Amino acid sequence: MREYKSTRNDEKTVQAKQAILQGLSQEGGLFVADWIEDYKLSLDTMKDLSYLQVAKKVFQILLPDFSEQEIEHCIEEAYGSSFDCDEITPLMSKDDLHVLELFHGPTQAFKDIGLQMLPQLMKCSLTEDEKDICILTATSGDTGKAALCGFQDVDRMSIQVFYPHEKVSEMQYLQMATQPGNNVHVCAIKGNFDDAQSAVKSIFEQRKDSDPVHFSSANSINIGRLIPQVVYYVFSYLQMVKQEQIQMGDKINFCVPTGNFGNVLAGYYAKKLGVPVAKLIVAANENNVLYDFFKDGMYNRNRMFHETISPSMDILVSSNLERLLYSECGKNSKQVEQWMKDLKVNGNYQIDAACFMHLKEQFYAGYATQQETKDAIASCFETYGYVLDPHTAVGYHVMKQYESPYKTVLLATASPYKFPQAVLEALHQEVHENVFDNLKQLEKVSGVCIPEALRSLQEKEILHHDVIEKEAIASYVYEKVKEG
Ligand SMILES: *Cc1c(COP(=O)(O)O)cnc(C)c1O
Repeated sequence: MREYKSTRNDEKTVQAKQAILQGLSQEGGLFVADWIEDYKLSLDTMKDLSYLQVAKKVFQILLPDFSEQEIEHCIEEAYGSSFDCDEITPLMSKDDLHVLELFHGPTQAFKDIGLQMLPQLMKCSLTEDEKDICILTATSGDTGKAALCGFQDVDRMSIQVFYPHEKVSEMQYLQMATQPGNNVHVCAIKGNFDDAQSAVKSIFEQRKDSDPVHFSSANSINIGRLIPQVVYYVFSYLQMVKQEQIQMGDKINFCVPTGNFGNVLAGYYAKKLGVPVAKLIVAANENNVLYDFFKDGMYNRNRMFHETISPSMDILVSSNLERLLYSECGKNSKQVEQWMKDLKVNGNYQIDAACFMHLKEQFYAGYATQQETKDAIASCFETYGYVLDPHTAVGYHVMKQYESPYKTVLLATASPYKFPQAVLEALHQEVHENVFDNLKQLEKVSGVCIPEALRSLQEKEILHHDVIEKEAIASYVYEKVKEG
């Protein structure tokens, strides 16, 4: 049976179900499938498959301990009715622009693809004699709502979400603060995303058998969230063929607005499974740690933290890079552990030259300042009549910088309606005080309908008011667990 290994101790292996339940391995490593490149999808035969059928093919490779019925059931539950179009992730092509729209789920960001699926995978994995699960989630804005939506009122599971106080967009705030459900907690912390993520990670590292629940993660450190994201890379490649933009077998680039390195890593896995990828383009905002890393192999988080108009990418510690380092740098868990120790103690680490060369061949990295991001929104609208959200706009800017003989698919990670104010400003439109007036204004400009879930936030009651110091996260978590 194909099993998952920890990036920090690869002598221990667990099955996919266990890896999904645990989220993070005991010693703080991330689970990886180091056999992935031994399996190839037969793309030639997949051109006419639906999104759900493609998902099944991918899951059958990556979730070997799930039965065919379990996989089919999970896919139907996750994607059967919660997205607003049958293609789940439609590919919008206009002239030389190819945008993979990942925001057609219930919370208008790509996180829905993973987080509609993760609770289903967990339900399948949880046996009678195991403890109930408490999901802890640090969010820079989008994960929180998508996780709340996925886990709301799921039997034997509860969820606690921590987001940086006053550092998420107003729409993101309203989405989270109005979240119903009898198993949900939403709490703002006085700090940034990295503070929230490191507090949550340290709770995982201190898990004990005596804990009343099993703490797990809905962040992209959980392999159960990452695997569903592999599917849309495969699907969009097939769409490119179907739209006759390319011939089967031709290479393409994917350009990915990046924060925690989860999304682009899923693209790397898709490549391992046989999708002909030329380059994976990593697009960062002013928090350009990854851009610097791909210059010289030095990861250095010691720098100023910028609050930008693309808040879901305001991240200095990109957790999932650890998985890439494991795969590309000799599959040496001792080495990875040392780098992560360096990162924790000194705030940086330097990878060796040979490993760096491997990475350079496969990835290109760039970044956009806030002004460049705004200009990208304006310029894309002018050229193609297509409105980008401020995250996707970072990708657009970097994609236009990069010269390549291959076609590029740009991943649109959120709907512009999640960030109406920033988008209207960028388009030199009137900006109103009231966020819902801005939705209407944007609808007028873009000609695309406002998603009903966002429009209806106006009538919803604020249900969550907690704001705590970042040092208080752990005690908050245990208190809420005790309350049940
Ligand atoms: C989370 C998020 C990102 C960053 O994705 P990673 O997987 O963390 O790299 C980019 N854009 C949007 C809109 C997001 O919500």
